[in-house]
Amino acid sequence: MALTGLEIFKLLPKTNCKKCGKPTCLAFAMALAQKRAKLDECPDVSEEAKEKLAAAAAPPMRKVVFGASDHQVQIGQETVCFRHEEKFHNPAVLGITVSDKLTGEDLKKRIESINALQFERVGTQIGVRAVAVVNESGSSGAFAKAASTVKDGSNLALILVTGSPDAMAAAVAKVGDRLPLLGCAEAETAEAMAKIAKASGCPIVGKAESIEALSDLSEKIVGCGVEDIVLNLDGPSPRDQLYGLSKMRVLSLKKIFRPLGYPTISFVTGPDTGTQVATAVSLICKYSGIVVVDTVEQYALLPMLTTVMNIYTDPQKPVQVEPKVYPIGDPDEDSPLMFTTNFSLTYYTVESDVEASRVPSYILVVDTEGTSVLTAYSGDKLNEKTVADAMVKNGIEKLVKHRKIIIPGYVAVMSGKLEEATNWEVLVGPRECSMLPKYLQEVWK
Ligand code: SF4
Repeated sequence: MALTGLEIFKLLPKTNCKKCGKPTCLAFAMALAQKRAKLDECPDVSEEAKEKLAAAAAPPMRKVVFGASDHQVQIGQETVCFRHEEKFHNPAVLGITVSDKLTGEDLKKRIESINALQFERVGTQIGVRAVAVVNESGSSGAFAKAASTVKDGSNLALILVTGSPDAMAAAVAKVGDRLPLLGCAEAETAEAMAKIAKASGCPIVGKAESIEALSDLSEKIVGCGVEDIVLNLDGPSPRDQLYGLSKMRVLSLKKIFRPLGYPTISFVTGPDTGTQVATAVSLICKYSGIVVVDTVEQYALLPMLTTVMNIYTDPQKPVQVEPKVYPIGDPDEDSPLMFTTNFSLTYYTVESDVEASRVPSYILVVDTEGTSVLTAYSGDKLNEKTVADAMVKNGIEKLVKHRKIIIPGYVAVMSGKLEEATNWEVLVGPRECSMLPKYLQEVWK
């Protein structure tokens, strides 16, 4: 748990020498507690105090990294239970299973279908980030061979899933250079699995059926010299799992209970794809750092990926695009020019409708701090002055020669003032941008 100013003060030299720039040790302790000062600003603090303060300052949830360099993923290091308190930091990783019973063309096809699960949504790439090779065959050789084939066929981060330390050792010998996540160590295999993790430098999954057993297991793994741990609360029903993961989150972040201060992984199985989707989406929200499913259906993956994208954005900062002029198609000086705001969802909706019109155009994006047209207008972030300033800043005069600008139908009321402010002809476009193709093709002149 974070130390109070008085607790920090007890660990300081108490000489009030002022070398840290503060008038007293107590003032420095208070500044440290509020994170307005750094410990190394006191040159006389003892090594013992440094150790105690560093331990207290360690994040309540450890960050765990796995996967090869450019496809490396990191999870954990979360600081809040609810995103409105701050934000969630490291987006949940979605992984897909590959059984080691698959061979030849079947295995190749499965890997290709997983690699293809990448999408673009409001200008951002989202997709599956891990492949979980599962030792369903029970054979160490088959497991190692499948892991090796997946490594050759995919750049995605690897998760090795087996209960057998022998199979794990065989697979790590083949793919250890890709820093896979090793799952799963249980009470009886913890030492053997931790030994493999320690020798290879790979993070490890600890798996147990209760929170108490998980905290005992993580302490056992740490005792074996492995710090990078991911926790798997296995066994309970989805309802109990959600309750358990929520309880673990509170214990790790609010009570700073170190044995549970690790990110989590969930393996989702279900009688049908719909159930898998519903369970996975719930687990992404509360509070799995990695969710592994066995479906490769795009319609099933998109809701999960969209959920990750939505809950890992900063709720205090709308998703924005850069305010500038965006050419759509190959526009020239006679092409239509319109403006919208820099709220991503608004911009990409307008962009796709302009593209659909097949009329080469310019879209001027006005900086409204990421708010939509009506919200920005109501908050006075979108008015004749902000639009006129954006037109000057982006050199619109030199871009088109017709001196006409199309404005969103919802802010038709600003057309007179905008004409006065710019001396341009203002054309009122449709209220809904879905009508833009018809407008650009039939009304624009
Ligand atoms: Fe106290 Fe260290 Fe600051 Fe000196 S430098 S006043 S000992 S905290």
